[in-house]
Amino acid sequence: MSLQTVVLPGRRGIPPRVNTFTARFWTALEEGRLESTRCRACAHLGFPPRRICIACGAQDPEWVELSGAGVLYSSTVIHAGPSLYWAGGPYTVGIIDLAEGPRLVTRVLGSLPPPIGSRMQIVVTRHDDGCLFAAIPAAAP
Ligand SMILES: [Zn+2]
Repeated sequence: MSLQTVVLPGRRGIPPRVNTFTARFWTALEEGRLESTRCRACAHLGFPPRRICIACGAQDPEWVELSGAGVLYSSTVIHAGPSLYWAGGPYTVGIIDLAEGPRLVTRVLGSLPPPIGSRMQIVVTRHDDGCLFAAIPAAAP
């Protein structure tokens, strides 16, 4: 599955710190996939990807691809944000419950926040210096 890409001119406010473990996540995102880790010991699936399971402490994760589909649990509009994020503000930050279970916090693209409970889709945002991700309202089925 390949996530939709949205081009956002300019550099990322805070580029991610990529290490040998998270490199797989960022490479997958560049290729249009949202991935995270599931614990082989207890099957806990979380986000962001983790080397150590937060449910049981095991250190045996496997990488899994997520659909990026989810539901908006909550959101807020940031009217006075840090200058690193301010280009194009105000902006919306939402909590998304992904279809596979994990909950994540991300920017919600668009001029108005969608209603709570809206179906959402994670997209890849392509910036001058690399990728991040965000959410948009899902297209009607
Ligand atoms: Zn576990």
